[in-house]
Parts: sequence; structure tokens; C-alpha cells
Amino acid sequence: MMENQFDSQRVEQIRANVTRIKANIAQAAQKAERSPQDIQLMAVTKTVPPEYVNVAIQEGVTLLGENRAQELMEKYDAYQLKADHIHFIGHLQRNKVKYIIDKVSMIHSVDSLELAKEIDKQAKKHQLIMPVLVEVNIGRQETKSGVDPNLLEPLLDGLSSLGNISVQGLMAIPPAQESEKYFAKMQRLYIDIKAQNRDNIFMNFLSMGMSADYMLAIQYGANIVRVGSAMFGARSYQIGGFQK
Ligand SMILES: *Cc1c(COP(=O)(O)O)cnc(C)c1O
Repeated sequence: MMENQFDSQRVEQIRANVTRIKANIAQAAQKAERSPQDIQLMAVTKTVPPEYVNVAIQEGVTLLGENRAQELMEKYDAYQLKADHIHFIGHLQRNKVKYIIDKVSMIHSVDSLELAKEIDKQAKKHQLIMPVLVEVNIGRQETKSGVDPNLLEPLLDGLSSLGNISVQGLMAIPPAQESEKYFAKMQRLYIDIKAQNRDNIFMNFLSMGMSADYMLAIQYGANIVRVGSAMFGARSYQIGGFQK
């Protein structure tokens, strides 16, 4: 049980981190001549025990980002924020959609029509309309999820007819070494698609920027930044290491 003990030093660190990250966001917003209120700080919770996630919530974080269906189910009851303030950001298998559909209020990782159709079906069962973002593999990396930028428009054509999802924007995880170049590409895509005024396709959210580059992402229009390790400390497991 010792390793599960609430670590007061870690609590203090998380508090200080949230304060610093908020100040950084305000500074980046000012530099970009944007309002800090237009930028949502998401706490990315993977591998973080819920009692520490709750520390961030007590410090004023109002949005959580979840990577894995199983982990979300295990931690959901212990979180002090519920579905209205939780987004799903990880790669999502179609057979897991049913487990998370009532525990999140946005899914950032839609990258195929098949996945979108399953979300649409489960949302219909629950009589809700699920806001989604389309994940773009902006660096065209073979190993990464997300739709190829060249296939984005055909995918949007397919999504626009699904009645129980609502496309609300775009998400990306650019190649770490060249994030600035790809943030700029994402901003251009976002603006271009917005200008097309497609039926049922809204460009309200641009989700990009993580611990290493959230301030940079704000220069390129990000309005949801997803921060994990800079808030909670380095992860001791890889993604997916949390209880399998
Ligand atoms: C882990 C993760 C993050 C946060 O990464 P950090 O570098 O720890 O801030 C953001 N987005 C997604 C999709 C992630 O999986």
C-alpha cells in the first residue's frame, strides 16, 4: 500500500504546474493577440491516479483528456469531473465506443468513416449528438493514427450525413521535431475548411499542442491544448501501460 499513499510533494508540484501552465497560456495568448479565455487547458490523465487528477481539478482545471477506454472506466467514478468535462483523445477501437459514449462529451480521434458510424450508432442509442474532431495525420507518419490530409475532404463528405455526430473541428499530433511547420499546416487546413461552410461540419475547435509545444500551438490558433507530463510529471509507464 505504501506506493499508493497520497504523496504531498507530488500534490504541491501539480498545483504549481497548473499555475505555471495557465500563466504560460495567458502569455502565449497575449503574444498571439488572442484572449486567454478562448483557449481551453486539457489535463491529459493517462497513467495518473484519479486522486492526483482531482488535485488539478481543485486548481481550476475543467477539462480532462482520456486515452484509453479501459482506463476511463476504471477511473471515472473517482473523478471530480464527469462526462461534460471529459474528452476522449486516444486511438479508439470501434468495439470500445459503447463503453465510453456516456462518459465523454467530445471524441478528438475520429479518423475513419467506420469509426464515425459506430459513434453515430451508439450516440443514437443514448439519444445524444456526440461532438467529434477529425484527427489529421498531418505529418503523414506511417505509424500514426489520423486521416491522411489528402483524404480529409472525402472523409468530411461522409461525416456530414451522420445525424448523431457533430463535427466540431480538427485534432493533430504533429511530428515532435517539426511541430511548428505542422501547426502552421493545420491552421491553414482549419481555416480552409471553415471557409467551405459545409453542412454539419463546424470548425470551432483546433486541438493541438502538448507539454513540449503548447505555447507554440497557441501561436497557430490552437484553442484546446492537451497537457500531460508538464502537469502531472513524467509518466513511469508507456501509453497503455496503465493496468493493461
Ligand atoms: C499523452 C498525450 C498528450 C499529452 O502528452 P504530454 O507530452 O505528456 O503533454 C496529448 N495528446 C495525446 C493524444 C496524448 O496521447
